[in-house]
Amino acid sequence: MALERTFSIIKPDGVRRNLIGQVLAKIEGAGLKVTASRLAWLTRAEAEGFYGVHRERPFFNDLVNYMTSGPVLLSVLEGENAIARYREIMGATNPKNAAPGTIRAEFAESIEANTVHGSDGPDTAAFEISWFFRQTEIFGADKR
Ligand code: GDP
Repeated sequence: MALERTFSIIKPDGVRRNLIGQVLAKIEGAGLKVTASRLAWLTRAEAEGFYGVHRERPFFNDLVNYMTSGPVLLSVLEGENAIARYREIMGATNPKNAAPGTIRAEFAESIEANTVHGSDGPDTAAFEISWFFRQTEIFGADKR
């Protein structure tokens, strides 16, 4: 299995409640490496473009309002099987269905304010990373 990259957001509820350290501890504890990271307060256009695939869903407007409600931590993660591994430790979208010990089971407030985002496949990971980071800002195994 080759090294893979995925894209992570600690959402406004996580940053607001001072959970950055605890979430990153779970990420690093799972063997994933943070290879780029910065705080950002998303503009409406950035959030709408990022969630473009959800444009037709009934909660799209609420989701964009929520994601622009405060600062977020944007990160690129790298590791073996990173996309699936991160989805595993995030837990299900609805925290009520998230497995014990997962980030969402422990920290999420609701199906919307569910603390973290992680890419769901290689194509979305590539798109999401490029939406927020330049290649020169990512310090992966290829540069270390
Ligand atoms: P994810 O891949 O687990 O993040 O889930 P989805 O891709 O299905 O949804 C994207 C994000 O939209 C979720 O992480 C939630 O923040 C939000 N979301 C999903 N379902 C709902 C819903 O039924 N209502 C609301 N308000 N937000 C939702």
